[in-house]
Amino acid sequence: MEWVGVPPPQAREGSIKSKYTSLPHTDVYFWECKKLKLFRFGRDGSEGELSFLCFGLVQGQTPLFPRIFGHEAAGIVESIGEGVTDVKPGDHVLPIFTGECKECSHCKSEESNMCDLLRINTDRGVMLNDGKSRFSIKGKPINHFLGTSTFSEYTVVHVGCLAKINPAAPLDKVCVVSCGISTGLGATLNVAKPKKGSIVAVFGLGAVGLAACEGARIAGASRIIGVDLNPNRFKDAKKFGVTDFVNPKDHQKPVQEVIAEMTNGGVDRAVECTGNINAMISAFECVHDGWGVAVLVGVPHQDAIFMSKPINFLNERTLKGTFFGNYKPRTDIPNVVEMYMKKELELEKFLTHRVKFSEINKAFDLMLKGEGLRCIITMED
Ligand code: NAD
Repeated sequence: MEWVGVPPPQAREGSIKSKYTSLPHTDVYFWECKKLKLFRFGRDGSEGELSFLCFGLVQGQTPLFPRIFGHEAAGIVESIGEGVTDVKPGDHVLPIFTGECKECSHCKSEESNMCDLLRINTDRGVMLNDGKSRFSIKGKPINHFLGTSTFSEYTVVHVGCLAKINPAAPLDKVCVVSCGISTGLGATLNVAKPKKGSIVAVFGLGAVGLAACEGARIAGASRIIGVDLNPNRFKDAKKFGVTDFVNPKDHQKPVQEVIAEMTNGGVDRAVECTGNINAMISAFECVHDGWGVAVLVGVPHQDAIFMSKPINFLNERTLKGTFFGNYKPRTDIPNVVEMYMKKELELEKFLTHRVKFSEINKAFDLMLKGEGLRCIITMED
């Protein structure tokens, strides 16, 4: 814990008092990338079969330190810079790791949420306005993370990355809407779009995958098949409406064949939330021919290559990918909060632990041990 200087916001920026923040895996991946690791991967990018040895960074991230992490949070606008009209001091907001400038071709398109100006940039540690950091310790600049840096009582965020939400929404619950939950939920509701009564398979039952299951439950799926290599994940998944569990390790044949047998030819929709290239291929190949749609959410190793026979496409299976569940941060995320307020979206199931900000390392320990789903970190002590 250190005292950090945070000056007032500049043009198009807001200063936010973080009230609650939580810890998704991405913060841990980027925190770990300071450690050089020896890893091995095969010609197809999959780990395992050794074709050559290589020194590399975990998951290929660029190390950028010192840096203030944190990107899943809820807070209150403290002050605003010049030209800010969309939010005012006192507004309740969710800072989002990607943005919506509302002016570029992506923001103007109904089909895209990949804003040209404010799209996620994991390598940028400074503000767009002047290319400088707003954090310092004893005069030395400290890098931002994903434009949010919510592991700080006060942070400065571009206004295009602030979703203004209903002030009645409990911030200690809806803070998780700002990243992983919306990603999984939107992957199912906005991209896979299962019809009522559909069979949906979800690969990977971490928080993102369980949010995809929650989307399937909301859409009225008749069966939700959860696929994970870790059997401990199945207990939590029952609360999310998962009806069938498949652990690929329990079967001799490829998991896509197991699922096709269980479902008379394949599932209507599959959502992949693992980041593992083999699971991505299985998710595509387990959808029914004629109408099946598979959606990739997980972020694979940067050298991974997706391989499947073209006949699988010709037989009318569709493969899609999504970023942040196709939600536009400022336009759509307030509506996801409203889904919670109307009791359609059940957020409490995701909130398994709670610690004070001064005990934030406990949240990292829980994540590293794979315990629980989301640990809420309260900044109020
Ligand atoms: P997580 O690590 O908590 O969960 C992943 C789960 O996948 C684990 O339970 C793991 O056991 C399981 N798994 C791994 N390999 C598997 C395999 N071959 N078959 C079946 N299960 C397997 O991760 P999370 O926080 O839930 O995030 C899931 C993925 O979503 C990550 O890759 C993350 O980077 C990505 N993500 C994508 C976006 C986006 O916008 N597309 C946004 C946020 C996160």
